Amino acid sequence: MRKNRIILFDKDERTKAISMLLTKGDGIEGIYREADDIRKQNMGDEVYIRGIIEFSSICANDCLYCGIRASNMSVNRYAMNADEILDIARTMESVQQTTVVLQSGETPGINDDEIGAIIRRIKHETNLAVTLSVGNRPYKTYKYWRDCGMDRYLLRFETSDSDLFERLHPDCSLDERLECLYALKKLGIQTGSGFMIGLPGETIDILADNILLCRKLDLDMIGIGPFIPHPDTPLGREKNAYEGDEDMFFKALSVLRIFNPDAHIPATTAFDAVFPGVGRNLALQRGANIFMPNNTPVELRKDYILYPGKPCVDESIEQYARSVLMRIESIGRITGKGHGHSIKRNRDIE
Ligand code: SAM
Repeated sequence: MRKNRIILFDKDERTKAISMLLTKGDGIEGIYREADDIRKQNMGDEVYIRGIIEFSSICANDCLYCGIRASNMSVNRYAMNADEILDIARTMESVQQTTVVLQSGETPGINDDEIGAIIRRIKHETNLAVTLSVGNRPYKTYKYWRDCGMDRYLLRFETSDSDLFERLHPDCSLDERLECLYALKKLGIQTGSGFMIGLPGETIDILADNILLCRKLDLDMIGIGPFIPHPDTPLGREKNAYEGDEDMFFKALSVLRIFNPDAHIPATTAFDAVFPGVGRNLALQRGANIFMPNNTPVELRKDYILYPGKPCVDESIEQYARSVLMRIESIGRITGKGHGHSIKRNRDIE
């Protein structure tokens, strides 16, 4: 397995170097190819499938971009119970999904103990790896969930610019978010983070710094996707910072892969929302190696709309799972067997 050695100088020079790569208009195909080569050398041709269950749309936070923010009164709030979640987890095993990702809004719609009990049941009753994505929590809660069997945690930092972060998040600061990520890493939980591409107010240097922050955090998983304005949010009339230059979404993904050779990088749903039917395939061919189908019950998906244009809102889990396997095959890749845990464990960090 090749070790990619990237020599970087001081922080400003690094930002500039990445900004130049991102703004390079001509050699764009070369950047995609390099990212795909690095993905192949480090992560192989396997695409791991991690099925998401959006188990609660209850949220106390008011993130300015998010469709399920607390102030959006048009959202029907729901919370699934443990048996409903377990039923889906069992179905997932029969359709080659090896990880369940439990995601929700940021409030104890289901409390921390209940979540712990759900993790224990999934680990006991299935062979799935468990990833949680339920926002900022104290160290002791992450530790408790780890002790219940949680394998991984996803918590995007959203933007590396602390002023922009604070403008978008009335409920938390970037430092608090980063503290959570450090706590997760300290606990030995496989840690995922990432950011939105093109938040209003983002500059190319901020985008470059987002990529650098992922590298600095030495993440096990990195999820990024375009910001898509949701009409029922304060940013509903804003534009993505790269509107008219949507190649930037893929360039960001490829440069992210070049600077993070051995992280798991999903082809996130938002790529399909911007490029219907092909966005995630292209992402897999430009650096990504993970696919995350939506396993939320069909009748609840309309109540968990983070942004408009989310694909496959009415396909059943089985239909969706079949189409994912076909997508992976259609681009000459293979479905990952086993859990697809981080390959960074016990690795020497540069
Ligand atoms: N509450 C948890 C958290 O904040 O980590 C998990 C759920 S949160 C709704 C999942 C992710 O959706 C966020 O991290 C954010 O990046 C993404 N998201 C929310 N609104 C979005 C939008 N308008 N466009 C693109 N992505 C969005």
